Amino acid sequence: MGNLGSVVARDNYDVIVVGTGPGGATVARDMARKQKKVLMLEWGPGNAPNGGVVQSVMEMLIPFKSLLLTPQVLGMVRGICTGGSSIYYYGTSYPIPFEMFKAKGVDLKEADNEVRKELPFIGPLKEHMITTMAKTMRESAQDLGYNWKPLDKYIIQDKWSPDYKWGVNDPRDIKWSSLMWVRDALKDGATLLNHAKVVRVLLENKKAVGVEFKMKGTMYRAYGSTVVLAAGGIGSPCILRATGIKDVGNDFFFDPLITVCGEHKYITKENEMPMQCGCAFPDDEYLMTDMALPLWLHENIFATEVFRFDQLFKGKKTFRIMVKSKDALGGRLTDGGQVLKILGSKEKKKLLHGKERARKILEHAGCHSIYGTYYFAAHPGGTVKLGEFVDSNLKTQFDNLYVCDCSVIPEAWGLPPVQSILALGRYLSKNLLGETKKK
Ligand SMILES: Cc1cc2nc3c(=O)[nH]c(=O)nc-3n(C[C@H](O)[C@H](O)[C@H](O)COP(=O)(O)OP(=O)(O)OC[C@H]3O[C@@H](n4cnc5c(N)ncnc54)[C@H](O)[C@@H]3O)c2cc1C
Repeated sequence: MGNLGSVVARDNYDVIVVGTGPGGATVARDMARKQKKVLMLEWGPGNAPNGGVVQSVMEMLIPFKSLLLTPQVLGMVRGICTGGSSIYYYGTSYPIPFEMFKAKGVDLKEADNEVRKELPFIGPLKEHMITTMAKTMRESAQDLGYNWKPLDKYIIQDKWSPDYKWGVNDPRDIKWSSLMWVRDALKDGATLLNHAKVVRVLLENKKAVGVEFKMKGTMYRAYGSTVVLAAGGIGSPCILRATGIKDVGNDFFFDPLITVCGEHKYITKENEMPMQCGCAFPDDEYLMTDMALPLWLHENIFATEVFRFDQLFKGKKTFRIMVKSKDALGGRLTDGGQVLKILGSKEKKKLLHGKERARKILEHAGCHSIYGTYYFAAHPGGTVKLGEFVDSNLKTQFDNLYVCDCSVIPEAWGLPPVQSILALGRYLSKNLLGETKKK
């Protein structure tokens, strides 16, 4: 066992938070703000995002680590870095399905209001910020009778200027990510260890007393009164399994998607943001949005996957629509976090239905050479379901051990989950701090 000075000292921390995505960063920041001694353990590196291909490949496209592949070779990416997937996300905020959580005893209204007060910029892009491509797709969809409208974004619009280029190089912090809340936690005295992969939770008399983690090849232990697992939809169930809760990581969702793209004759890309406008089709159980991919590399990977070599390097003129379907629960994770789930025929059908709709929107918008990409998966979650493996305080069967991330979502999902995860984070902090109002 290695020695990391104060980190391994017994009972040194009030709260150990594992993972720094939206769930972990919210809890760490809230607890540090109330003078709690907080340790954040993060598997990934902590370099400032620079927007480069190399960094995004290292943090998001390493096979079997950040790029997971299902048996049908559906790719699923997650950010393994400080800020988690929110470093690479598309910054779209979706309203919380409050009733789903309430049915499990979790009322997120107050927490959501508080989060929104702290992120007052959440809202649709102003008209002058919407690019010609996104407007053209919106007009086409509206012409065809769809309620296609600007989506709420985590974009700090007061800082925005037309030269803003979407991507992860964001020195002005225009796209909000949970990295900003990690920084707040650090300012309030929290400690962050990067390259620290938590392997299991340490238990004594069925109570969590700390965690064991691996850093640069050496195992360490850190002790604290409360442990919050926020390692994401795949990370948290793996840690719980290694801690003895064996049934987690089954019957989850991964919300499959496809994109449909076409080449436009004369409209070319400006400084596009993904997911500027879109439309939900609740009866057909999918969402559709415009989808400008941030990296040319991704465009070319998608075209190559379906042998559309004629569309390689056509990114500048490529209009793209994402169709993301609500997924049925199913599948299982391996103990090492590989995803064994088959995309069902019902989900495929939904996506193909959406594909035809997207094709018509693109045709009507003036695109040609339209094609659909291969299936992809997003948002793995529901692996440690609320009501089954955590109670309405997000506590596991072990005292002092909580889970707060995408994994606790209790049912089939199909929505961008960050707003719900932020509210869950605030809800947990308030409970831990004894600030929840009695009803
Ligand atoms: C390309 C992309 C676009 C997206 N766009 C949107 C969007 O527009 N809107 C939206 O709402 N959602 C979006 N999402 C999804 C969203 O980003 C995630 O659902 C969200 O970040 C999940 O938050 P989390 O706290 O559950 O976990 P994560 O963000 O996955 O964070 C988990 C953290 O835990 C760390 N970790 C994992 N295992 C360990 C371990 N053993 N020890 C220590 N640390 C560990 C990881 O490195 C990571 O930092 C997108 C996701 C991607 C990949």
